[in-house]
Amino acid sequence: MSDSSFLFSVDSALGASYSERPKLLIVDDQPVNIQALYQVFSASCDVFMATSGQQALDVCRQKSPDLILLDVVMPDMDGIEVCRKLKSEPETRDVPVIFVTSQDSPEEETLGLEVGAVDFITKPVNPAVVKARVKTHLMLKIQADALRELASVDGLTGIANRRRFDERIEAEWRACRRTEQPLSVIMIDVDHFKKYNDHYGHLEGDTCLRMVAQALKENQWRGRDIAARYGGEEFVCLMPETKLEDAIKKAESIRARVYELAVPHAASDSADRVTISLGVSCTVPDERDLTSVMSAADEQLYKAKEGGRNRVEGANS
Ligand code: GH3
Ligand code: MG
Ligand code: MG
Repeated sequence: MSDSSFLFSVDSALGASYSERPKLLIVDDQPVNIQALYQVFSASCDVFMATSGQQALDVCRQKSPDLILLDVVMPDMDGIEVCRKLKSEPETRDVPVIFVTSQDSPEEETLGLEVGAVDFITKPVNPAVVKARVKTHLMLKIQADALRELASVDGLTGIANRRRFDERIEAEWRACRRTEQPLSVIMIDVDHFKKYNDHYGHLEGDTCLRMVAQALKENQWRGRDIAARYGGEEFVCLMPETKLEDAIKKAESIRARVYELAVPHAASDSADRVTISLGVSCTVPDERDLTSVMSAADEQLYKAKEGGRNRVEGANS
């Protein structure tokens, strides 16, 4: 199989949606073994190398490879231990590991599979065999990534869903706690939306939710920010390393954007168009549960509703 056809097959398995070169990490304490595998894959993959277990863990965290070819017998930390460590961390858990080993005892193979490896290849490696196995597991990895991505998107609006938001806020709560940085949350609720549905029908209601989501998407977010559908007609934004005043500014620009869309709402008690109310909460995470920042944002949202809707309220918590 030529190198270009190797990549082409990975591509076609995914409806040609995967255009980047796969990233492969090769780990072996003997450079000559790395060299042999490098020659097999350098034309079709971005290849990273490590000559010790610790280096393998470091490279894996930095480069997020799509697959690891891992030597079993290494001094200091052996391949089994490296694999155990990779599987215990959320960031590296989903990277498939193929063991490359010179001793092919059933006991060793069983142990390797038990710690989470997807396959075993024996040394000296046969280029055609290793290529075929890597190809199979790369395709499975890419498909699994695509499914995970799909599972974190809201079907109606196409923005992140509650599940993705919950994952992100948990990770960012921990990150901001470590660095003692503020974390801001904006809770958003469409005003008099029940009346909108009653007046225009549920399908128009869905279209309206898509427009609000679009307004959120169009905002200028920073790298770690995320806007998600929280449920029903409620949306939420997470802004790590963001002070209250900056989060309030962002909330105000979202409110104005939805107002300017001027989607008619003839049944609203408070405006001639669709509007949203927003509650902002900012906190420096500590030993409290992260639900504290969520309920604080909820309280601010309630205040915005009480205050007449189509407005932003915010406070540090
Ligand atoms: P308030 O201004 O106080 O927020 O009043 P409201 O009517 O917006 O709030 P309420 O919670 O009473 O009603 C929310 C409505 O949102 C009721 C529900 O049918 C509707 N809703 C929730 N999810 C969807 C959805 O996916 N599509 C549509 N069309 N409507 C939805
Ligand atoms: Mg609501
Ligand atoms: Mg509402």
